[in-house]
Amino acid sequence: MSEYDAIVIGAGPAGCFTAKEIAEKGFKVLLIDIKKEIGKPVQCAEAITEFALENVGLKPQKKWVVKEIKGIKILLPKNKCFYSTVKCLSINRYLFDNYLADTAVSAGAELKLKTCMKTIKSENNKYTIDTNNNSYSSKIVVGADGYLSKTARILGLLKQREYINAYQYKFNKKDIDFHTDDWLCMTMDEVFHGGYGWVFPRGDEYNVGVGSRDAKLDLLNNYCKSLGFDIKKKKCLNAGKIPYFFDIKKRIIPGAIIVGDAAAMTNPVTGGGIHSAMYSGKTAGQLTVESLEKNNMEIMLKYDEIMKKSMFLHPIHRKVSDYFQRWTNKDWDFFADAAGGLDMKDLTYFKSFKTGLKNPRYMLRAGELLAIRKDMQINQKYGF
Ligand SMILES: Cc1cc2nc3c(=O)[nH]c(=O)nc-3n(C[C@H](O)[C@H](O)[C@H](O)COP(=O)(O)OP(=O)(O)OC[C@H]3O[C@@H](n4cnc5c(N)ncnc54)[C@H](O)[C@@H]3O)c2cc1C
Repeated sequence: MSEYDAIVIGAGPAGCFTAKEIAEKGFKVLLIDIKKEIGKPVQCAEAITEFALENVGLKPQKKWVVKEIKGIKILLPKNKCFYSTVKCLSINRYLFDNYLADTAVSAGAELKLKTCMKTIKSENNKYTIDTNNNSYSSKIVVGADGYLSKTARILGLLKQREYINAYQYKFNKKDIDFHTDDWLCMTMDEVFHGGYGWVFPRGDEYNVGVGSRDAKLDLLNNYCKSLGFDIKKKKCLNAGKIPYFFDIKKRIIPGAIIVGDAAAMTNPVTGGGIHSAMYSGKTAGQLTVESLEKNNMEIMLKYDEIMKKSMFLHPIHRKVSDYFQRWTNKDWDFFADAAGGLDMKDLTYFKSFKTGLKNPRYMLRAGELLAIRKDMQINQKYGF
């Protein structure tokens, strides 16, 4: 049986980052993925902020950046918009994931595709991973196997999972008539039950999708209809699940760690998870290196605390997504009056207070509104 210092299960952004961090310090790393080809099928709206890349030490690369975007435009009732001028990029997620995998391999990780982890056994401070091909053993195992993570379940780290359902069509730009190709547009409406609809421009294409806890394909079809898009002209459909709330005991036990969607690092308000996947993978990789160098698995245990204290897992995200789930279009009308036409940076306490005075019943919900304002500020940097 081949032996490794670390085995990383799943070669998405989280797994590739973890594998790269460990391999580049000279440790023997196996990176496995069930897929035949990295990054296929794409299950993503393909948006990321420039800050996310900078935060994990990546520079935008021509080969996977499709378009530079001015920021996020939140489409509200009464034809009003709210802006967040945060520099974003539309990326080619297939090429991006392949770039991350190539980086891990160049650092020394051994990548095996068409390799599905079936079971994990732990004995004498060692893990044995059985796959459809072979069995492998290692001192450390990393679960980077996405939202359905079998690793988290086998290791007993998980109690319960709840998801956001997401559906998306790709359209050629020439086939739809939309008012902007410079902003990531998100539609807020009670039909999304706390989620949203999106139209993300990407040069000669648009990604048009919906995400909500109870979304079905009909919700996307109706959203397209409301925008005047002819669904017969769609190029393709992709769908997937986004972690909303995972009841996780902890994200680590000595020698075993979960990262990215497997560890529910995804933001429940925006649904963005590439940034947190890379960040958690990088952090897990660095702690694994320290543990291996000092031959002390206790060092890795710091991971849980670091992640819990990170902005990605700030408790306010859950709170705000629960508020949005209860919001009706009356609430969105109020928000449109309060924030319509403004940019995030201009939404001062004073302005919020003035609008509140005109709508006294919202003054009673000042705590809710302040929490939303705070969450939006965090999400400008950590939401995508
Ligand atoms: C429709 C949709 C749109 C989205 N849009 C955005 C967006 O615009 N921006 C953003 O930031 N986030 C977005 N997200 C979320 C984002 O895609 C995820 O958060 C991100 O992919 C998480 O990365 P990961 O590495 O943790 O998991 P993944 O990318 O899911 O990678 C997990 C890997 O593990 C492999 N695997 C699973 N089980 C096994 C096994 N048993 N053995 C071996 N391999 C296994 C899988 O094949 C997969 O390659 C979107 C999600 C969806 C569904």
